[in-house]
Amino acid sequence: MTPTVLVVEDEDALATLLQYNLEKEGYRVVHAADGEEALILVQEELPDLVVLDWMLPKVSGIEVCRRLRQRPESRNLPILMLTARGEESDRVRGLDTGADDYVVKPFAMSELTARIRAVMRRIRPGLADDRVTCGDIVMDRVSHRVKRGGVEVHLGPTEFRLLDHLMQHPGRVFSREQLLDAVWGSDVYVEARTVDVHIGRLRKALNGKADADPIRTVRSAGYSLDLEG
Ligand code: CA
Repeated sequence: MTPTVLVVEDEDALATLLQYNLEKEGYRVVHAADGEEALILVQEELPDLVVLDWMLPKVSGIEVCRRLRQRPESRNLPILMLTARGEESDRVRGLDTGADDYVVKPFAMSELTARIRAVMRRIRPGLADDRVTCGDIVMDRVSHRVKRGGVEVHLGPTEFRLLDHLMQHPGRVFSREQLLDAVWGSDVYVEARTVDVHIGRLRKALNGKADADPIRTVRSAGYSLDLEG
């Protein structure tokens, strides 16, 4: 599953450079040019990490950071701040802005991508790992194999990506539209009902031997993966 990075940067040239390099690293990139847009996009896109410039029009980077930390859905969202050398204050150094890490401009792209990987690993181990476990389901991203209770589960590529996305955020409810964006991509036109079809196939494959159904249907909201019960 491709992790999504939201880049919040008002300098077009730097935003383009960041987008190019992060896409090359295998991330899906969403861009916001000011703080206000960033706050909206976090809700719409549910990114896995935010690269947040300190000096932004409308709402400053620090204020965006503070507001994201106040919202329950983005309280633990990894945030990497970008600051110009002059702005590198004790507040940033101590990271009491709520950011997880910071990089001082100008920076080498390789340094930034290394920091992003480190933040991802630290905060969402499931994202950076090749092997993810959720209850009795184990997914190996390298060999593309899934096992439930030690028994191999055969999934089609779409079902694999669906399960991968759900396993990265256990317990979280996703609408059909959010799953379409995450699994099929926002630039592809697919009907919302398609999600139901693939969820059906995923269930059938996972629940081979009358195991408890790990996929919860939330009426008029969407689906989530729940293996606690
Ligand atoms: Ca700026």
